[in-house]
Amino acid sequence: MAEFTMELNDEQKEVRDWLHGFAADVIRPAAAEWDEREETPWPVIQEAAKVGIYSLDFYAQQYFDSTGLGIPMAMEELFWGDAGIALSIVGTGLAAVGVLANGTEEQIGTWIPQMYGDVNDVKVAAFCSSEPDAGSDVASMRTRAVYDEAKDEWVLNGTKTWATNGGIANVHVVVAVVDAELGSKGHASFIIPPNTPGLSQGQKFKKHGIRASHTAEVVLENVRVPGSCLLGGKEKLDERLARARERAQQGGERVKNAAMATFEASRPAVGAMAVGTARAAYEVALDYAKTREQFGRPIIDNQGVAFQLADMRTSIDAARLLVWRASWMAINGKPFTAAEGSMSKLFASETAKKVTAQAVQILGGNGYTREYPVERMHRDAAIYTIFEGTSEIQRLVIARTLSGMPIR
Ligand SMILES: Cc1cc2nc3c(=O)[nH]c(=O)nc-3n(C[C@H](O)[C@H](O)[C@H](O)COP(=O)(O)OP(=O)(O)OC[C@H]3O[C@@H](n4cnc5c(N)ncnc54)[C@H](O)[C@@H]3O)c2cc1C
Repeated sequence: MAEFTMELNDEQKEVRDWLHGFAADVIRPAAAEWDEREETPWPVIQEAAKVGIYSLDFYAQQYFDSTGLGIPMAMEELFWGDAGIALSIVGTGLAAVGVLANGTEEQIGTWIPQMYGDVNDVKVAAFCSSEPDAGSDVASMRTRAVYDEAKDEWVLNGTKTWATNGGIANVHVVVAVVDAELGSKGHASFIIPPNTPGLSQGQKFKKHGIRASHTAEVVLENVRVPGSCLLGGKEKLDERLARARERAQQGGERVKNAAMATFEASRPAVGAMAVGTARAAYEVALDYAKTREQFGRPIIDNQGVAFQLADMRTSIDAARLLVWRASWMAINGKPFTAAEGSMSKLFASETAKKVTAQAVQILGGNGYTREYPVERMHRDAAIYTIFEGTSEIQRLVIARTLSGMPIR
């Protein structure tokens, strides 16, 4: 187990500075343009691939950093640059984590490289769990996967929604119901390989923020995939379902489903994204408050403004510490006995929403225009309390974990 320290090591500092340079020189200058265009910033992803930021290697290196801080540090820096573009760069990672969490070694080796493509032909991947009638309530999922034993194929039908990179992805990871009687315990994840007939993009959403990130419906009509596309394999699924049936009969113990495992692992990472956006807005507001003069003195001379900045920075640092704690616990195999992953996501996302609103206020009229980046950051920040489990759902998870009661 790595020793506890509040400092990044030299290697981490080097990576952080390198990422910060990319975020400052490449991402931030492109942010306003891609926000207006509401399109996937392929040239920026390509640039990230060229320098090695958009790659399986980079992601794996951060993911397996023994301190646990590799991913949160990377997320904070990239999202400091711009949330929409950064999500286009790291969105593939959510699908990759789905495969890492549930796939066999062969599946990891086959599919993750295809999610990223290569430097000259970059690709993206999508993780598709949410449905029109199954957002927070994952158990209401309707997309079905039926096994065709004669052909050793799975047949998927249903409609997914809100999928980041949905429809434009090379590889889609789709969560589907394999045993409806088991609720969320009867779900399994499937790889849908490139160009599989029957998978199409539905509506592409026009959003409030993170507009450079593509979000769309994914329609599955008699999508047939080989048996080998079931993540983890059939034997493991059958065993898991048998255990779940046994437990259901005993009326008991909850077991994790595949989608929840993905979300649990990614919650602190989403918290780190929120810290990046919050820090970006705070920095703009601090600079502005020191240079903008009213009544013959900088506006920061007023406690009313200075104290807001003090509170903003305090909350951001507290959020980062919660994110780092959860990430450190996760890499060291410590169970989230007080839902520490959810705590970090809840606090960091609420902080980002609050801090970006304060930044808009500190910039006054300028803060309300697209001439200054805090307007975009404020719109972007609103996503953090919604995706990967809303703030209400995080509170539910925390309260249930703390109390052991089935709080509703
Ligand atoms: C930009 C964007 C990108 C996304 N990317 C992906 C993706 O890549 N893959 C994917 O699978 N999904 C993705 N999502 C979906 C996201 O995870 C869901 O939107 C989220 O889980 C909430 O589901 P919902 O929108 O259906 O809201 P609902 O579940 O309908 O919730 C509506 C409101 O009711 C509240 N609520 C619901 N149940 C309870 C309860 N029991 N107690 C208290 N309050 C409750 C919620 O907190 C919320 O405020 C994305 C969403 C967005 C907007």
